[in-house]
Amino acid sequence: MKDELLEQLKRVADVECDVPLSGMTTLHIGGPAKYVVYPDSTVGLDALMRLLIEEEIPYKVIGKGSNLLCSDDPYDGVIIRLDRFDEYYFLDTDLIAQAGCSIISLAYTAMRKGLSGLEFAAGIPASVGGVTFMNAGAYRSSMSEVIDSVFVYRDQKFEWISNEECEFSYRHSIFHLHPDWIIIAVRFHLEERETEEIRELMESRRNRRMASQPLDKPSAGSVFQNPDEVPAWKLIDGIGYRGYRIGGAAVSEKHVNFIVNDNHATAEDFLRLVNEIKERVEQQYQIRLHMEVERFNWKKQ
Ligand SMILES: Cc1cc2nc3c(=O)[nH]c(=O)nc-3n(C[C@H](O)[C@H](O)[C@H](O)COP(=O)(O)OP(=O)(O)OC[C@H]3O[C@@H](n4cnc5c(N)ncnc54)[C@H](O)[C@@H]3O)c2cc1C
Repeated sequence: MKDELLEQLKRVADVECDVPLSGMTTLHIGGPAKYVVYPDSTVGLDALMRLLIEEEIPYKVIGKGSNLLCSDDPYDGVIIRLDRFDEYYFLDTDLIAQAGCSIISLAYTAMRKGLSGLEFAAGIPASVGGVTFMNAGAYRSSMSEVIDSVFVYRDQKFEWISNEECEFSYRHSIFHLHPDWIIIAVRFHLEERETEEIRELMESRRNRRMASQPLDKPSAGSVFQNPDEVPAWKLIDGIGYRGYRIGGAAVSEKHVNFIVNDNHATAEDFLRLVNEIKERVEQQYQIRLHMEVERFNWKKQ
């Protein structure tokens, strides 16, 4: 990568160099990224994107990094962080929030305003951009049920697209098919409800999460998607892998669909464990597990 790129990047955004991805992911795994940029306006983002496209520089938007397994290799490209896109406002019962907002903070803010709809997301440690990309969900609800429309940067234009155009399905959206599109903001449609009722629901779910998830250890949440037939945890328990470990990566004792970084796990430890589980489950149950956690910056897929 050319030296003058840094100077060009600095003209449009704040830039950091050689930043470990391990510090940007909830798994605390990942090699260094050559550049990390923090645009602070749509104008700055547009200028940045034009530069990256013109110079054919690889890039990746990262939200809270709570669904990423980054390899330990250096990433010779640009990580785009939208942390500064953190404004939101309410319009009657709708909430319009920029991509860098924390979905947990928004759920609590909506609760205090007596607006219901985001209760299920109050324990997902993610950004608005990330939960929209993933159509994140819990307790049989998902983002697609509360998203009205999404403000997107695509083909060097900013535009609102409808919920239908996002083609949401289980942990999937149209954004998977267009990794060059950037989610800028989301309009959520919420409903009025007593603050106390919302608070109670959120409290009980928080307690459930605390009781059932290893929140004291670095993880990326559920590793595998649930197959139609049976929840992934039953299959992993069925092959006897509760607590099983490779290097520093361990299947959680508390929630077997979580693999935790127990003791300086490498990306390779984590992936070897994932692959071993997939093989054993397929041998024993003839069911193919698919990773929900996304692999990033792996030379071999
Ligand atoms: C303790 C724990 C609990 C969890 N519980 C749940 C749960 O209950 N339900 C659930 O569904 N998930 C859960 N997860 C997984 C994770 O939080 C979700 O997948 C979440 O949607 C990821 O959001 P993020 O901001 O961290 O995105 P990242 O992990 O940073 O990125 C995920 C993907 O989104 C893309 N992306 C992020 N922002 C943008 C943007 N602005 N524009 C375009 N693309 C973007 C990235 O490029 C990447 O491909 C959990 C994770 C943890 C660690």
